[in-house]
Order: sequence, then structure tokens, then C-alpha cells
Amino acid sequence: MTLKYVATTCPYCGTGCSFNLVVQDGKVVGTAPYRRSPVNEGKVCPKGTYAHEFVNSPDRLTKPLIKKNGKFEEATWDEAYDLIAQKFKSYKPDEFAALASARVSNEENYLLMKFTRGVMKSRHIDHCARLCHASTVAGLAASFGSGAMTNSIGDIADSKCVFILGSNTFEQHPLIGRRVMQAKKNGAKIIYADPRYTATAKQADLYMPFVSGSDVAILNCMMQQIIKNGWEDKEFIANRTKDYEKLKEVVMKDTYSLENVSKISGIPVESLKTAAEWFGTAESSALLYSMGITQHTVGVDNVRSTANIQMLTGNLGKRGGGVNALRGQNNVQGACDMGALPVVFTGYQKVIDEAAHKKFADAWGFSDGICEPKNGYEVTVMMDVLTDNPGELKCMYIMGENPMLSDPDLTHVKHAIENLEFLVVQDIFLTETAELADVVLPAACYAERDGTQTSTERRVQMWRKAQDPPGEAKVDWQIISELAAKMGYAAQFPYQSAEEIFSEVAAVTPSYHGMNYERLNRPEALHWPCPAVDHPGTPILHIGKFSHPDGIGVFAPIEWKPPAEVPDAEYPFVLTTGRVLWHWHTGTMTRRSATLDAEVPTGWIEINPEDAQALGIKDKEMIRAITRRGSVEVPARVTRDIMKGVMFMPFHFKECAANVLTNNALDPVAKIPEFKACAVKVEKITEA
Ligand code: SF4
Repeated sequence: MTLKYVATTCPYCGTGCSFNLVVQDGKVVGTAPYRRSPVNEGKVCPKGTYAHEFVNSPDRLTKPLIKKNGKFEEATWDEAYDLIAQKFKSYKPDEFAALASARVSNEENYLLMKFTRGVMKSRHIDHCARLCHASTVAGLAASFGSGAMTNSIGDIADSKCVFILGSNTFEQHPLIGRRVMQAKKNGAKIIYADPRYTATAKQADLYMPFVSGSDVAILNCMMQQIIKNGWEDKEFIANRTKDYEKLKEVVMKDTYSLENVSKISGIPVESLKTAAEWFGTAESSALLYSMGITQHTVGVDNVRSTANIQMLTGNLGKRGGGVNALRGQNNVQGACDMGALPVVFTGYQKVIDEAAHKKFADAWGFSDGICEPKNGYEVTVMMDVLTDNPGELKCMYIMGENPMLSDPDLTHVKHAIENLEFLVVQDIFLTETAELADVVLPAACYAERDGTQTSTERRVQMWRKAQDPPGEAKVDWQIISELAAKMGYAAQFPYQSAEEIFSEVAAVTPSYHGMNYERLNRPEALHWPCPAVDHPGTPILHIGKFSHPDGIGVFAPIEWKPPAEVPDAEYPFVLTTGRVLWHWHTGTMTRRSATLDAEVPTGWIEINPEDAQALGIKDKEMIRAITRRGSVEVPARVTRDIMKGVMFMPFHFKECAANVLTNNALDPVAKIPEFKACAVKVEKITEA
């Protein structure tokens, strides 16, 4: 028996913990602590602990599949590539769209971006950041000049006040929750606002349940209190920002008085006052947020409001402060960095910028050119175009994403995907989306490849191969390269290793210029920006100046607006959605991990006891939840942990899919959907 330990990075959340994969006779059989990681220091959450269990699942895809007469048949790689190449070549550039993946490596996201813009010459590439932090990228870039988490995870422990808004950190990013606990032990006050009394709420010094969608009003109210009491950082505002007077004009309005915002949000006046005082007077205050802020039709407004309060209090460019946007998936930061977005190449170099466009066209060397220098469609817009303008988009290549469970209004998504003429899905399991494909390509999982991923704190870390992929499955970069070669572009995709691809990424991406595998192959790895090989990386952004060309941060006057759909007589409750500790997104991996699945085998809807009593609903009773998009049958969980008037569903479970219900209304800038608030009614199921 041979036994070895391979240190790698967790494939689940954006925290970026490391652990060892235990490999016995060439197969991954367990995980073990890797204590040298500065992120998690040997500790992991349940998902990390059992991250080996799905790797050798009997459900893994092992051969290419081609659909014939409505049924999948196994095929050789050559048969699959030939069919795909012939079909792909038959479409005009903008009839093709690709979805990259926050679950695969930087190298592979880069290659799919290059394939889309170079081989297919299409403008349309996006990925699931559209569903989680598109508002962060747009909002923080407008305020600070850089759309990423400003500080490092370790910094949070040094904060004297931590305000968590729209993030159930202790369940979604448990090892970041550990840093919050360290801050608390060091004397920090913890403020938490959420419609649910979550695991995070239990650790807070001040818990503020609030009506989903009132974030801007709460932040404006806190800023009004801070200014009224003279707690703002006048020097920081004067030296490092602009448009403060415009901000002041809005936040000082009577609309944002304690009394009015208490009515809008449901938070007691005293709590709002205390939150403003603790946050405004602490030596350093960190703001942590996640999708409770971003997944709204006002997602960008929400994000800009978090930036406003941190500039107002001078909590940027210093330890223990920052706007800490907690990115959801393991590599959602990296997929954005790699230009798997419809408006940018790598490192946020704009597609419409002539110089950037020429730079990539020259670097890639396609003799027949690349895509036009125009922005493409976001994934949410792709779905609308497919339903509203059939025939404009005809063909899609989806790598490691499952929109048939992750996107809002699933009936609409199914309709959209069924309007495609040709769909290729590349994944490790036959997902709900793969079932609709014409060709399915079997991919390697994280344990079967080398590569890099970039965590929420902009730390670029290594995945290291621990076992071979099952059957004939291949790593994604190899599949993309072989397909490109079949289409006549072998010269542009000559790669023999992930490292070769990374070298190309570093060459064309200023924030990654100073990175290479030798430098990254250390426990601490590197934070971007890292512009030169002798640069130590940048754990804290905006020290001394912001990333805008003039170095100045920009305040944005933001007025509160209610969600696109609010309760009414017909749909009298607010529905909000989210994740649970034991599962990950569409459950493709965690629901195939026996231990995790045993803990939480299905979904539920949380209902406050007063609402349940009024509706005659009992705990665990199967009920029907209905919105204007559709209905699902789901067990009720009657609990005081959810505030009256609000209901909550986790979105991992296909048998009671929350996204059948959610609203596809979009933020006008980020095009992110409003997963966090729509109007719902519930009813008892009566026997026919
Ligand atoms: Fe993995 Fe996130 Fe858990 Fe760390 S906190 S072990 S990265 S799921």
C-alpha cells in the first residue's frame, strides 16, 4: 500500500483554505490538516473536511456523451470533437456564447475566454459571478478604481468593530467567521444585520433583523448619525476622496432619520443608534458583506453605500478596516480576473478599449482576428435574448456551470436553453443543465489537476494533482486546447501544462505580472496586484491612494429604492434565498458526499411561528410556495429564526428548487438578479 499527502486548495467557498488530500494506492481517500496555510492554519469547515467524498463517486462522467434521438450514447473523444467543431464552425461569431466557471482554475477560465474571443470571435462570455458579485465588481470599481475585497482575511482579527451585513459568514465562509471570533476575543464589537437569526447572529453583540432590501436606507441612516455626531474622518475625506458634499446632501435627508429608517427596515431606533456609534467611533471598523448586499436590483447601489460608509469613517487602506466583499465560490475572483466577463479581458482590461483589444489580438496571434471590440451579453441577458429573440443566439458552450438550478426563474431558463440549436456542457457530473445538452464532455475535478485559483482576498493559490481523472475524463484546459486544435487553431493553443498557460496569463495581465508557479508554490502564495517578480504582493489595497488614475475615492449619493417586487395582497410575504453550511450551490458535489448529504438531505422553507399559525401550517408539513414565476412543494420549517413576514429557502435542492420562484429582475448596471427579495405566498396542500 502506498500512502501520500498532497496539499491543495479547497474547491468550495472563496475563503481559500488549504488541506492535504490523502492518497492511497493512487486514489483520494480522505483529507488531513495542512497547518502551514496562513488562511486557515490547519482548520477546515465540514465541506472542506469531506471534500474527498465526491471525487470517486460512481456518478462521475467518464466518457464523452452524444445525444441521439433524445438519448445519450457514449462516444470517443474524436467523435465528440468532430461533431462540436463542425457545429461550432457553422455559426456566426455572435450566435455563439460561452459560460466559464468559478469552480475551475484560472488557467481554464483564461483559455475559454481566449477560445470564445479568438477561435469563435464571439463577444459573449460570462460566468456565475453575474449571479453573485457582479455588483461588487461594478460598484467597488466605481468607488475605488478596483472591484475586489480591499483587505485580507487575517486582517479581520485586528478589527475593533466588525459589521456584517448580508452575509451569514459563520455558515458560508466559516474560516472567515473564525477571524471574526478572534476579533471579538480581542475586544471588537460585532454588529450583524440579517432577516434570519443565523449562526452568525448568535455570535453578534448587536443583532438587527431587517426587511430584505432596505440596506441602503440602513447605511444612509448610520452615515447620518455618524455625521451628526462628528464621528466622520474629516482628514481622510478631505485628502483622499471627492463628492462628499453630494453624499451628505442625500444621507442627511429626513428620509434617513432614525425613525424613518426604523419603519423601512424594521430595526429598532436604539439598535440603529448603537450600530452607528460603535461603527463610527471604533479605532478600526471592518465591513463584511456577501450576497445579501449584491443580489438585488439595487446591488450596485448597495455596494457603493458600503464604500461610502468606509470612506466616511476612513476605514480604507488600513489593517482591521476595509470593504470585505466575501466572494462565494472558490475561484469566482479568479474567473473575473481572467476576463470571463463580457466587458473585459484579463485584469479588467476593457474589451472596448482599442489599445487593450489590440494588445490581446497581437499577443494571441490569430491571423483571422479576434472578436469585435464590443461588450457582449451577460448570462442573465443571454437567457432573455434566447427567449425574447429566438435565433439570435444559437449555440452555447458551458464549462462547469449549472444554470438549470442556479439561475433565477428556472422555467424561463429551461425555455431559454431549449431554444438553443446546439449545447455543449463540460462537467464532472451529469447536471440538470448537462441533461439538456447535445454533447457532454467529461472533465477532471479539482483533485485531478494542477492549476491556480484566486480566493476572495485576491490570494492566488495552487491546486495540486492527487489522482488521475476517472475513465477518459480530461482536465478542462486540455479539452479546450484539443477542441481549438480540431478547429484549426493548434498554434494558438500549444499548451502541455497548466504552468505554460499561467505564464501567458502573467504576461498579459498587469496585476499578475510578477507571479509564476515557483513563487505561488508556497503556503502564503501571493495577493494581487503583484506587478513584478520582486514585488511581495498586496494584501491590503488602497494604502495611501485609491486605484483610480487620480488616486481619489469617489463618494456616490445613493437614494434607497425598494425591491422590484414587494409583498401585496396576493403574495403577502418576502421570500429570500441562500446557502447552508453543509451544501454547496447546486449540490452537484456536496449532495454526492455521503456525510454532507446525510446531515441535510433536502430543502425547506422557513416560516415565522406567527405567520405559520395564521396560515394553519405546522412544522415539517409539506406546503406549496408560489410566486408569479411558479410553485414548488417544500417542507415547512417553523422557526423563530426568521422574522415575521419573511420566508427563507436554501437553493441547493432540485426537488424543491428555490429558483423556480425567484425573480429575474436585474440590477441595471451589473445585470445581477434579485435573488434576495421577491413576493411569495404559501398554501397548504390539500388532497384532491
Ligand atoms: Fe473550504 Fe470555505 Fe470551508 Fe475553508 S471555509 S474549508 S474554503 S468551504
